[in-house]
Amino acid sequence: MIEFVAEESVTVFQDPTKNWEITRRTTQIRKDPLTGIRTRILDYPVRLPDPPDLTDLANQTAGTCPFCPPRVTEVTPKYLPEVCPEGRFRRGGAVLFPNMFPYDENSAVAIFSPEHYVPLSRLTAGYLMDGFLTAQDYARALERANPEGTRYFSLNWNYLPVAGASIIHPHYQIVAGHEPTNFHEILLRSSARFYEAHRVPYWPNWIAVEKEKGDRYLGRTGTVDWAVAYAPRGLIEVIGVVEDCARVEDMTEERWSDLAAGLERLFRYFAEKRFHGFNLALFSGLESDREHYRLQVRVVPRVILSAIGTNEVNYFKMLHEECLTMMRPEETAAEMRRAFA
Ligand SMILES: [Zn+2]
Repeated sequence: MIEFVAEESVTVFQDPTKNWEITRRTTQIRKDPLTGIRTRILDYPVRLPDPPDLTDLANQTAGTCPFCPPRVTEVTPKYLPEVCPEGRFRRGGAVLFPNMFPYDENSAVAIFSPEHYVPLSRLTAGYLMDGFLTAQDYARALERANPEGTRYFSLNWNYLPVAGASIIHPHYQIVAGHEPTNFHEILLRSSARFYEAHRVPYWPNWIAVEKEKGDRYLGRTGTVDWAVAYAPRGLIEVIGVVEDCARVEDMTEERWSDLAAGLERLFRYFAEKRFHGFNLALFSGLESDREHYRLQVRVVPRVILSAIGTNEVNYFKMLHEECLTMMRPEETAAEMRRAFA
């Protein structure tokens, strides 16, 4: 029912580093078992440069940061009173407000805390929780305001400039319009197609298969199962799937806390491996996806590949929509599993 397909492609050449010996190198082309999206696993050992020291940049930008207090309440937009009487959604140190330069009709920005620069190792479950609960408040407010509306809700985070952030201060963005993004659509459609074909939802079955195989499964934090993707869409892709929950509106404090607990472990591992940043996206389903879909978070670490600043996103990703990685998912999972133990 769930198949892990891989094609091997072998290159033979005379190797200048081995006195022109005949050498073979294997590229593995994998297909994601649900979406069929390809990833190439390269036989290309790399040594990643150390992460840049952002202390100076953090100090230089703190004085003008729009997300630091008191500016966060002075320069960020406010909601109309019928959406949010207080103007902005707040929980503890988290603040959520409209995106001044929106991506869609419902487009929000939020900070987790007033702290300007937070290194990877300090992105703990406690740090994340206020931000997540604020996102839940926003999702529920949207539902109250327009219960019949179609909203493809995603919570997205570019952590640090290497991952696309324009501001050091950690912040996430919510996009919840009536039109999905390309991948959001692929995810929900392939999940629905699997259900139509097999009359069982893909997600609990995928987790059961990964658990049984054991070489990519990471562990469970409460109601959330974690595994490394077979065909990652980055150097590594980690997927956390929430049990029996398809929509963000159905998330509870307990489920957010389980999700945050897993992310804390993941970020601790990223910090140990000295990754430079990450992209994170949480994809919600619609009401009509309840049977076949499970709400999930996907995280890919980001790095600069060389001392000259080589970007890991190149023509493969930009123009072929195909991912490359030099890290074998099973080897990564073996290391990462210790963080989840
Ligand atoms: Zn700041």
